[in-house]
Amino acid sequence: MGTLENSSKLYIPYGCQTIGEDDIAGVVDCLRSPNLTQGERVPQFEKALSEYVHASYCVAFNSATSALHAACWALGVGAGDSVWTSANSFVASANCVRYLGGDVDFCDIDLKSGNICVDLLAAKLLEARVGGKLPKVIIVVHFAGFSAQMDRIHELKQEYGFKIIEDASHALGGSFASKPIGSNNYSEAVVFSFHPVKPITTGEGGCVTTNCSDMAAKLGRFRSHGIVRDYETGRSSPTEEIWNYAQVDLGFNYRMNDISASLGLTQLRKIESFIKRRTQIQAVYREELSSLPIEFFDNEKNSAHHLFCIRTNNRNNLYKYLKGQGLGVNIHYIPIYRHPYYKSLGFVKGYCTNSEIHFNKTVSLPIFPSLSDLHLEYSIDQIKSFFK
Ligand SMILES: *Cc1c(COP(=O)(O)O)cnc(C)c1O
Repeated sequence: MGTLENSSKLYIPYGCQTIGEDDIAGVVDCLRSPNLTQGERVPQFEKALSEYVHASYCVAFNSATSALHAACWALGVGAGDSVWTSANSFVASANCVRYLGGDVDFCDIDLKSGNICVDLLAAKLLEARVGGKLPKVIIVVHFAGFSAQMDRIHELKQEYGFKIIEDASHALGGSFASKPIGSNNYSEAVVFSFHPVKPITTGEGGCVTTNCSDMAAKLGRFRSHGIVRDYETGRSSPTEEIWNYAQVDLGFNYRMNDISASLGLTQLRKIESFIKRRTQIQAVYREELSSLPIEFFDNEKNSAHHLFCIRTNNRNNLYKYLKGQGLGVNIHYIPIYRHPYYKSLGFVKGYCTNSEIHFNKTVSLPIFPSLSDLHLEYSIDQIKSFFK
């Protein structure tokens, strides 16, 4: 994931971590401390993050994938339950349901934002009610860091009685209706990712924010083997025993370690400047590329700007050209149902019309806080020269 500095050949990725001396010093401090895991830095990071997004609780995990698995489990997803998510997402948004034996189905998107189309969702819910297979949970993805229409999806939630997990892996630092994404005004749980390409990084890592204490307790158990400490909760208390923990559920080892949390703490202090730089970069792209035969997404305001996507009829040639010029452009995303695993479950090409159009025409350009003006200009020049 290195940029130019690491090699003689120019390579500018679509996304990359931004690491400063403060991050390095924080990690070194942790390495010199007694606890590399299960120490004080994870709860410190959880507290800082929950305050940043205005949520009551934050439970950190070793990835957003683990966090999604835990959130589905905490909402009771199991064999035979139906869970829906956006076709235009990373596979983890759907795999979390499969880990628990649930059935996944996919919602099509609105081409302006790349997010779940609420009108199509409403129609799909109506049909599902008639067919007697309403979803238990809908996992709403905030594509590229721009919030889905949570107020309207929340109205459908009240009508149809499903629960909502927001997959906000792209969206830390974004907002909706003047509230930070993660404040859980419309959902049971909001999941963030701290993979190096995401808004802030912990190396690998993720978390769930929630306003429900029972949900937070469940998530805490699930990430640590299903174990509770001090053997609480009215079960026959073995006060005479020396041991002080009990496994009450089948959990996993999904804990974030303190080295990661140190990095998260220093990264989180810089998020506003990170989002500011991302916002600046996408504004430059929009201005400089405005006369070309490309379409922009209608996602400029209140976004975390994790991705900057453009749409063009000549996408495949543009993609190959830019790759050849050292730009690490990417496609976000192939519709999840088109992966061989989901194909084997019976999904077919063309299942979601807009998601297919999006997949065929969209490319993600380099955007990350440490992208220099020089590299941004280089990226723009290459796109312009392709269309000449
Ligand atoms: C990155 C990502 C994930 C998975 O995050 P990890 O922290 O790498 O497990 C899940 N959903 C979406 C939409 C993502 O972009």
